[in-house]
Amino acid sequence: MDFRPTEEQQVLLETVRDFADRELKPLAAQWDREERVPDPWVQQKMAEMGLIGMCLPEEYGGGGQDLLTAILCIEQLARISPLCAASVFESNVGPVRVVDLFGNEAQKQRYLPSVCRGEMQISIGMTEAEAGSALTDLRTQATPVDGGWRIDGRKVFCTGGGHSEAYMVYCRFGTQRGAKGIGAVMVEKETPGLSFGKQEQFMGLRGFPSAELILDGCVVPEDNVIVPAGGFGSLMQCFDIERCGNATMALGISQGALEVAVEYALERETFGKPIAERQAIQMLLADMATRVDAARLLVHRAAIGAQSGIPSVKETSMAKVFANETAKAVTDMAMEVMGAYGYSNEFPIERMLRDSRGWPLAGGTLQIQKIIIASTVLGRRFDQRK
Ligand SMILES: Cc1cc2nc3c(=O)[nH]c(=O)nc-3n(C[C@H](O)[C@H](O)[C@H](O)COP(=O)(O)OP(=O)(O)OC[C@H]3O[C@@H](n4cnc5c(N)ncnc54)[C@H](O)[C@@H]3O)c2cc1C
Repeated sequence: MDFRPTEEQQVLLETVRDFADRELKPLAAQWDREERVPDPWVQQKMAEMGLIGMCLPEEYGGGGQDLLTAILCIEQLARISPLCAASVFESNVGPVRVVDLFGNEAQKQRYLPSVCRGEMQISIGMTEAEAGSALTDLRTQATPVDGGWRIDGRKVFCTGGGHSEAYMVYCRFGTQRGAKGIGAVMVEKETPGLSFGKQEQFMGLRGFPSAELILDGCVVPEDNVIVPAGGFGSLMQCFDIERCGNATMALGISQGALEVAVEYALERETFGKPIAERQAIQMLLADMATRVDAARLLVHRAAIGAQSGIPSVKETSMAKVFANETAKAVTDMAMEVMGAYGYSNEFPIERMLRDSRGWPLAGGTLQIQKIIIASTVLGRRFDQRK
């Protein structure tokens, strides 16, 4: 497997890196402090750079690129601010890919061009208060009505909740229990009956809107059913694209923390010498750099395997677990390298450490990913209900 970026990818990667360093770095701390989404020019600039919808098909206004190319760009943005990477993430590895891969022509025409123009963000509403890891316990109900479906239920922790223009809502069609009755419908923001609960106050990833979705008699036309009942397996397969994106956010944070720690170690002097000359600090930096590279190789393996389709579940789960754990470890080590300055919000490490804790929880916990990996290693499924 060739892990080297092509010449074209290298040019794009450097352009995105330069943009993030010059234009996003000076503002990243402020957006975190003010807990708000970045100013609209950020989204506009990224759209001009061709990053929004770069993986969606060209015929709908997308860039027709493969997953790896988007992953390379997301890492460069997340290195400075995962918040700024969010719209590149959503428009390339988010729930819009369900429409791209499983939607019919009318659905693609309705949603993909708007996403590519940066006019629509689509969020995902899966998790419920009683259905997190045990997602197949979800109770949001789709009931047939004349010409469509009525959706009733509540979703929690919806990233983009209240902010996005549309929501891919996982729901149960009919009375069939377990995975078999589950499909997904698109509920647009203005649909009567859709409202939003309070915004979550998370430890990190501040500025990412996150709210409860309250669906109270929302009627959607038949055309909004993107994946009918019986399609839970397809939804989960497609979700592995999002998990690659999640792993990349964690990778970007790790790379960012390594860069900050290296720069600091070269400048900070104790006892008359830069701390970079101390072996204790060198060991920390060596461990950090090795983990970051290993995480990158796992993420790239999953992305290269996927090309423009769906990645392998085993490769994705391994990449997610390793990159998520790397981000936690590397941001922690960076804080050690920097002493009290790492703990101060004068430097970005404390923000990176807070942000690193969100990704292992979002998109399937480490424990659930490890159960998936163990299943592939042992060659059988482990039914968690038995
Ligand atoms: C930053 C962030 C963003 C998110 N964005 C979204 C979003 O956009 N849309 C959305 O729908 N959801 C979102 N979520 C929710 C996320 O998907 C869930 O939090 C996640 O699936 C875990 O569910 P839970 O929190 O209910 O934990 P639980 O399922 O209650 O798990 C609690 C603990 O038990 C462990 N556990 C559970 N079952 C088992 C088992 N069988 N074996 C071993 N260990 C087990 C878990 O690993 C975990 O450690 C987000 C969460 C976060 C933190």
